[in-house]
Amino acid sequence: MVWSVGMRASELARQISDELDHLGRVPVDRHLRALPEVFAAGDTAAAAFDAEHTVMQACQHATPLGKVAGYNAAADLLGLPLRDFTPGPYVTCLDLGAAGAVFTRGWDRRVMASGAEAKEVKKQINQWIHPPVDDASQILAAADRVSIELPFFPRDEKAVATG
Ligand SMILES: Cc1cc2nc3c(=O)[nH]c(=O)nc-3n(C[C@H](O)[C@H](O)[C@H](O)COP(=O)(O)OP(=O)(O)OC[C@H]3O[C@@H](n4cnc5c(N)ncnc54)[C@H](O)[C@@H]3O)c2cc1C
Repeated sequence: MVWSVGMRASELARQISDELDHLGRVPVDRHLRALPEVFAAGDTAAAAFDAEHTVMQACQHATPLGKVAGYNAAADLLGLPLRDFTPGPYVTCLDLGAAGAVFTRGWDRRVMASGAEAKEVKKQINQWIHPPVDDASQILAAADRVSIELPFFPRDEKAVATG
């Protein structure tokens, strides 16, 4: 078994800022702007999730960060209003092989499903994660969908999530 843990943003982040966070990420504002001419997304962006947390270095946040940063970079060039980054509720879905999976929500990771039920959620997530690749209208529609629906959330709290 090889056990590997820990996360670290690319060293490229140092070219953007001298004030990196503890994961080597660039601080960004609510529009994901790091410098007047630079927007940051994904694992390199220390974006606020809420008043207490920054985003995780995971697909769950990297994907919507990329959508919003890309939108804002284009909008900035075109002189259009920028969009705020507003992540959905935080979840985790951990595959446990033959034991199924465990699905939690919230930063305190309350277990919402386990075993085969959670495995089904994991399978769905692994299908939703892939964007369309060969249809321009579908690609553009997917780019606009920053959040996707997940189970175990009240109607007004539908979540963004992957992996
Ligand atoms: C082993 C592993 C397992 C993971 N499993 C999960 C999971 O189950 N669920 C989950 O949510 N997240 C998971 N993650 C995290 C997830 O993959 C990342 O959060 C996500 O890919 C970050 O997206 P990104 O676009 O910021 O960076 P990346 O996907 O890393 O993309 C960065 C790209 O930049 C390119 N690049 C780097 N340097 C340069 C350069 N100088 N010039 C040009 N291009 C460059 C790289 O080649 C790469 O293609 C996992 C990560 C790892 C490493």
